[in-house]
Formats: sequence, structure tokens, C-alpha cells
Amino acid sequence: MASKRFAVFCGSKSGADPLFEQQAFELGKQMALHDIALIYGGGNKGLMGAVADAMMANGGEVIGVIPELLLEWEHGHQGITELRVVPDMHIRKKMMYELCDAAVVLPGGNGTLDELFEMLTWNTLKIHDKKIVLLNSNGFYNHLIAHIDNMFQQGFLYEAWRERLIVCNGPGDVISCLV
Ligand code: AMP
Repeated sequence: MASKRFAVFCGSKSGADPLFEQQAFELGKQMALHDIALIYGGGNKGLMGAVADAMMANGGEVIGVIPELLLEWEHGHQGITELRVVPDMHIRKKMMYELCDAAVVLPGGNGTLDELFEMLTWNTLKIHDKKIVLLNSNGFYNHLIAHIDNMFQQGFLYEAWRERLIVCNGPGDVISCLV
């Protein structure tokens, strides 16, 4: 069994900039080489598929957690260590948060932001206390970081949790921040 487990949240699409996929592959490789298991959404497409494929190609341990509905749409990755099929999205997300020691957020869309903000909210509510790293590939999250700073300045956040959201520019930094 791996020494640590990171949840990785990222796009089920690859995005427009080729660097997103390159960094997803590199993160998967680095995690496997550092004996860190991957907890993720279980899909085989986009950046999610890239991280999982890189992990498997480098002898890593990969646990996918996927709701039945998405499995039926044939997006379930059949080449990973373990694919857990759960009844719905809520159970899936809770299981992913519980299984991980920390979370890494790569570029992505609605699903990725949903998972990021739910994990941040649960930190504030003390439901859990997990480190969260934003991989800011090519400045993808610059606007979001500015908006979070604005939410704080405008008095909408309960604590200065912005400092607890670690921002990294490359996969190597992610590993050194969390290991
Ligand atoms: P999105 O950013 O909208 O592409 O959604 C990606 C995130 O939502 C991932 O971190 C997954 O946990 C979840 N997700 C969305 N679509 C899928 C899919 N087809 N298969 C598995 N998980 C998905």
C-alpha cells in the first residue's frame, strides 16, 4: 500500500493548452515515483485519464470512485488498480475526500470547481482538515485566485483560508509542498 493518498480533481476534458495535459501526466508520474496513491473520479477521459494513465504506467496505485450513472456512459477507467462504483455523486465526493490525505486541483470545469469549493467549505466547517493545492498551470487559475482574494476583502469569508490554499506552478512543486 502507498505511503500517502492524494485526491486529484481535474477536467474530464483536456482543455485548450497542451501544457495542461503535460502537467497532468507529469503529476501522475511524480506521484507514482514518490509512492503516493491517486484517488480520483474514475474516468478515462481528459486530464483525469491522463493522471490515471501516467500513474499506472509508472507502477502507481489508482483508486477511482465513480457513480453508476457515469459508468453507464462508459467513462469508467477499466485499467486502474480499483474502480469503486457508488450510487451517486454525493457519496462519491464524500468517499474521495475521506480516502485522501490531501487534494490537488488541476485545470478543469464545473465538476472540478465543485469539488474544490466543497473541500474548502468543509475545511472551514471543520468537517475535515485537508491541505489543498491548486496547480496553476500557465496561470489558469489567476482570475479565480483574484476572486477569492476579493471575497475575503469584501468580508464574505469566515477565515483567512486563502493562506491555506497552496498555489503551485508545476507538478514538482506540488510534490514538495505535500510530502
Ligand atoms: P469537469 O471539471 O466538469 O470536467 O469535471 C471533472 C471533475 O468532476 C472530476 O474531478 C470528477 O471527479 C468529476 N467528473 C466529471 N465528469 C466525469 C466523468 N465523465 N467521469 C468521472 N468523473 C467525472
